Amino acid sequence: MSGRILLVDDDAALLDALPKALRLRMNGLQIDTSETAFDALERIRETDYDAIVSDIKMPGMDGLALLHEIRELRPRTPTLMITGHGERDLAVQALRGGAYDFVQKPIDRDYFVASLERAIELRRLARQVEEQQIALERHARVLEHVDDGVFLVDDDGFLQHWNPAAHAITGIRPDEALGRQAETVLPGWEVVAPLIPVGAAPGPGSVEAKVVPLELDGRELWLAVSGVSFSDGTVYAFRSLTEERALDELKGEFIATVSHELRTPLAAIYGSAQTLLRTDLELDDSGRKRLLDVIAQEAERLSRIADEILFAGKLDTGQFSLGEQGFDFRTLAQDVVEEMRSAFAAQENISIELAVPDTIETVAGDPDKLRQVLINLIDNAVKYSPDGGRIEVAIEPREAGVRIVVKDEGIGIAPPHQRRIFGKFYRVDPDLTRGVGGTGLGLYICRELVRLMEGRLTVSSEEGKGSTFVVDLPVPAQALGAGDAVAQTA
Ligand code: ADP
Repeated sequence: MSGRILLVDDDAALLDALPKALRLRMNGLQIDTSETAFDALERIRETDYDAIVSDIKMPGMDGLALLHEIRELRPRTPTLMITGHGERDLAVQALRGGAYDFVQKPIDRDYFVASLERAIELRRLARQVEEQQIALERHARVLEHVDDGVFLVDDDGFLQHWNPAAHAITGIRPDEALGRQAETVLPGWEVVAPLIPVGAAPGPGSVEAKVVPLELDGRELWLAVSGVSFSDGTVYAFRSLTEERALDELKGEFIATVSHELRTPLAAIYGSAQTLLRTDLELDDSGRKRLLDVIAQEAERLSRIADEILFAGKLDTGQFSLGEQGFDFRTLAQDVVEEMRSAFAAQENISIELAVPDTIETVAGDPDKLRQVLINLIDNAVKYSPDGGRIEVAIEPREAGVRIVVKDEGIGIAPPHQRRIFGKFYRVDPDLTRGVGGTGLGLYICRELVRLMEGRLTVSSEEGKGSTFVVDLPVPAQALGAGDAVAQTA
């Protein structure tokens, strides 16, 4: 039997005889001896014994006092007490004081060895449990800190572990997940779970993670998940690929949009230039001018597209900041509407109306960017009203600021698209079945600008009936109609 024990007794003869007897019966046992309790304490401080055997009656510090110290120092070490014949009271005291067992003199060797073996075995098991506990705690701590989401589904389908990364990635808190069915917590789990590879043992090369979609709270998450089975269930680890995927999609949309949007004006410019270059063709002045107009217009369109892309890039990287100055909101709105009316004068079936109360005058902000937002919204209203209609622009004072409304009677936007049109490059009709070009950046830029102004841009729309875009800006109430005050501070 392996193990290391300490024998404490003031009786030198016993200290000599007992170890010999024990070694005979318990092969491999390492035995240290001490003649005094003080010496024993020194050793106990240095060594974590598997068991301690001590005489109760000793001069100086006695066995009971030593036992008390051992319980403080090494509460898990089993201690056997040796009592004199007929000292039952002491034995009972020792047991009350936390002794593991006692043996009476003269020592019954068989009993003593059996008891000692049990004590050592007990300590060994306790040590194992401690080690396992430490390992478990360490694993749990590691799991708390890994970037990957980790959860455990037991054999009955209940979630038994849900680490902080799982919370961060999915937005599902541990108290919403633990002890509940995986399918309830993760809608669609029953469909994707069979697709997820589950290995028999962890480690490299065990299984490849599988990318699966999960819809949580209306959000689509793409997760790379793999599992490892163990005796009571399966541990799953996952990473979110949602952003990578969104980025991939965005790149695809960007390339498609840009190449498409560039090709149209380029083709027009190229065609016009080729025609102008032809020597076999006699062009009169008006013909030449028409072609040159096309080139000028399309070149302008190209530069607008390039500007939009560059500007969106600046907004993305935070390289852009708003100006702040006092300006007359009413005049600005009137100017913009006037400009748009003349820009679309050729479209006779379109009318642009403006309603702006007198109370709205000077506000503080970035007039150029507000103009840009307004132009964009009105431009869209016209663009997406192919059959004409009335476009109403209204500026309304609100308690916490000012509201701009741009309402059209155009093609409208179906509900699933309404949230997405503010995304970069998003176009409801990218294939131009209705023939209107655009980069899909306009509303993205508008929303970002409004956000920088600490406002909100929203849409309500009914397909086939028209759309209403609303900008709510937090212009301080006193700034409305109190132009002088703002002009002075600006
Ligand atoms: P673009 O007009 O260049 O495509 P936007 O970001 O301005 O880009 O708009 C994104 C998409 O939102 C448009 O492609 C169109 O499908 C839709 N949209 C925007 N404004 C309107 C509107 N007033 N009526 C209907 N659809 C609109």
